[in-house]
Amino acid sequence: MTDSIHTEPSSSHNSAKKGYVYIAGAGPGDPELLTLKADRALREADVILFDDLVLPQMLEPYRAEKIYTGKRKDAHHFAQDEINQEIVRHALMGKTVVRLKGGDPFIFGRGGEEIETLRQHGIEYEIIPGITAAHGASAYSEIPLTMRKVSSSVAFCTGHPVNSIQVPDTDTIVYYMVASNVHDVLDKVAASGRSGETMVAVVQNATRYNQRIFTSTLDEFRKREKAVYSPALLIIGQNISQYIEENWFSRKKKVLMTGEAPKKYTPADYITVPFPCHQVAGADLGAVRSCIEGIDEFSMLFFQNRFAVRYFFKYLFEHGRDVRHLAHLTICTSNRLAATELHEYGIIPDCCLDRESTDGIAAMLQKEGLTGQHILLPGAEHVDELVAGQLCEGGNKVTPLAVYVHGAQDHVEKIDLEFIDEIYFASADCVKKFRGMYETVPPGIVITPADERTAEEVRRQFGG
Ligand code: SAH
Repeated sequence: MTDSIHTEPSSSHNSAKKGYVYIAGAGPGDPELLTLKADRALREADVILFDDLVLPQMLEPYRAEKIYTGKRKDAHHFAQDEINQEIVRHALMGKTVVRLKGGDPFIFGRGGEEIETLRQHGIEYEIIPGITAAHGASAYSEIPLTMRKVSSSVAFCTGHPVNSIQVPDTDTIVYYMVASNVHDVLDKVAASGRSGETMVAVVQNATRYNQRIFTSTLDEFRKREKAVYSPALLIIGQNISQYIEENWFSRKKKVLMTGEAPKKYTPADYITVPFPCHQVAGADLGAVRSCIEGIDEFSMLFFQNRFAVRYFFKYLFEHGRDVRHLAHLTICTSNRLAATELHEYGIIPDCCLDRESTDGIAAMLQKEGLTGQHILLPGAEHVDELVAGQLCEGGNKVTPLAVYVHGAQDHVEKIDLEFIDEIYFASADCVKKFRGMYETVPPGIVITPADERTAEEVRRQFGG
């Protein structure tokens, strides 16, 4: 029946014809504020063109090619014309393109200009709204934009350029693009006749872990010298309560999360801030090939964690082999999660330590009579000397094989620890990676290591 099988193109809109473009909003920052529809488009995409306001970690789950079109100093600066051309170029190759913008594409987002170009080229498109910064800031700082008897109208304005600042006659005004010229905006608002007692709020990094709010009266704020950092909104109106600097969002614990979040960190109680210390496939393919082709020379496989299992099998399958080629091997692990992962591949390990610690590895092997073995040890790019040393006892020979690396992302902003309440370290490697980026852990931050070994590494790196 094979001749009746026909292949589908890689994505639904992909064909010999022109591609398809989604102009989509990513929301203001909290990844959960992405719409279901934008998520679907991103999963479908071949190419994602994204802005400064889109956090790169939001894009991690999607397989598409990702092109940064923002204005970071070390990256190519895309003028709007160039972005338009880039969208068209990919679409004309038959690709599904998502043009992803911070907030909503039609609120100070230049989405209008982009669809104009698409129309000119006869490229099909659709527009997916996003939660605009004003709505994010409103919800995450408890400032209702309208409120019965207090505010019955709201306007969204821009604070840039200074000569086009408007002060509409609405009860609430939200100014976008105010970081460098907040005082110019406030001067104009005061000059328009608003009372000096009018409430003012600046919301920086709305909906993100480092959201910060300043409130005061119009007069007070005009006297203040405080710098405002981008991205920030200025909100003006009597619906701003003086208590909002402490609100539902500020009360949530912010946890810097290295590795996968254990179950206790439920989104209802915690905000997890990803730290780039996750495991991704990465190997010297020549070494992998020779180990897999020479697998008969080994008598034992030792998996220290589930990532070693996952990525070893990935490479095994890619070499056209399966578990039957491992039948002659004794398979052991020192970690329950690795044992569970092995079950997924139909393997019950011959031995597994109860406790996730390295101390007992040598004793476990001795108890099982595993001496004089040639052990293949799949793991991270840096050999774990402690584990390798324990395995070598009893006259065993160990061959380490790197199958994953601790992934780093491009363009990740350094996390501002001032906003962090707790750091969860998933492994000793994550502690080391963190130490490579930060000298110390500021006092007051709770450190939660995943296990005793990780705790030991924390003591080694940071003392105490
Ligand atoms: N299309 C976007 C706005 C782009 S203009 C939207 O709908 O939200 C860029 C301005 O948006 C920034 O200068 C800032 O004023 C505002 N902005 C975007 N994200 C923000 C955030 N997380 N917190 C505060 N302001 C934000």
